[in-house]
Amino acid sequence: MGGFAIGLWPPLVAPLLNAVAVLLALGFRRNRAVLVLIVLTLASCAVTGVVALEQSERGTEAARMFAPWLLLAAAALPERGLLAPRNLVLLLLLSIAVWLTLAAPAHVWPSLRGALPLGLLPWSAGAVAAALTFTAALLCLLRWILIGAPMEAGLGIVLAVAGLALLPTVRPDSVRLAFVLTGLGGLVAVLYASYRMAFVDALSGLPNRRALDETLARLGGPFAIAMVDVDHFKQFNDSHGHDAGDRVLAAVAQQLRRSRGSHAFRYGGEEFCLLFTGARCREAPQACEALRQRVAALRVRIRSAPPKRRGQATRRAVASEVQVTVSIGLALRDGEKRSAGEVLKAADEALYKAKAKGRNRVVAAR
Ligand code: GH3
Ligand code: MG
Ligand code: MG
Repeated sequence: MGGFAIGLWPPLVAPLLNAVAVLLALGFRRNRAVLVLIVLTLASCAVTGVVALEQSERGTEAARMFAPWLLLAAAALPERGLLAPRNLVLLLLLSIAVWLTLAAPAHVWPSLRGALPLGLLPWSAGAVAAALTFTAALLCLLRWILIGAPMEAGLGIVLAVAGLALLPTVRPDSVRLAFVLTGLGGLVAVLYASYRMAFVDALSGLPNRRALDETLARLGGPFAIAMVDVDHFKQFNDSHGHDAGDRVLAAVAQQLRRSRGSHAFRYGGEEFCLLFTGARCREAPQACEALRQRVAALRVRIRSAPPKRRGQATRRAVASEVQVTVSIGLALRDGEKRSAGEVLKAADEALYKAKAKGRNRVVAAR
């Protein structure tokens, strides 16, 4: 891999890729990614010899001494505005690290090297640096597992690759390749996270209205649309609280996802949409009825605080099981209703009828 890597990746490629990833992350306001990628851009400058340092080893040493701490701090801090005080402190520390690397006198450097990253430990600086960077990667991956943000998964992978690059045994050409990969990984992560933000609803995990519009615009042939609306949901929020409402919406969304032969979307608020295409349209009425029954049978565990009464100091949250129902309006594309807009409108009217007839039912447009 060595010759291949050196031949293919001139020294400037890695810093450039990481810098482009910084710009993209800035554009999409991914502040944690901005910080991580700025550190990686400078680290890749240092280790790939883009900046000609008098002492040839100093670049690699500096990357191992400073970068892991800054990466760990960036990974540990919660996402804030880029110019939040804690981020400014981090950028100031980064500037000091750059200044020390470029300007520290030769007699100061060895004592710095002895102290950082953890000079007292019996391991080599590279091993400690890699361990700290892997810890940063782990933090991001944990956050991804807990809150499901795809950007965190991307950063976790990028940081893990950076950790590999800082290991003591890695050859210089592989280091260069690793930093090329952090830049590419950063680019892909920011682009993918931004795509998700634009087209996927965060609460339900379902594609959103924009995704539905795009899908409908591309559609040809027969299709059917079912509008699904949670019954009396305003009342539900009033009695159980908005957080409980969110949990219920996520549970209803999960039932929609289980509807086979259709694509589920969150249309907005407490309204969802099922799209059936091709031969699947014939199964739409049964699928809608099955969905209605599944939602009605659903019991969602929530912790909700009852509404505050006058003179009551606190509201203690109590665990309980709740249930909701949905009304569904279904419409098929046919000779009369040709465009997606017309089918949507017909599904909406059918939904209105289902509400008027008493809710918790499926009504198909004539
Ligand atoms: P209907 O049976 O006629 O549909 O009555 P409804 O109360 O469900 O209808 P309405 O349109 O009056 O109220 C919709 C409610 O849905 C109001 C709003 O607070 C709630 N809602 C919309 N989006 C969300 C959300 O993301 N989370 C929570 N918890 N509630 C939401
Ligand atoms: Mg509604
Ligand atoms: Mg409703």
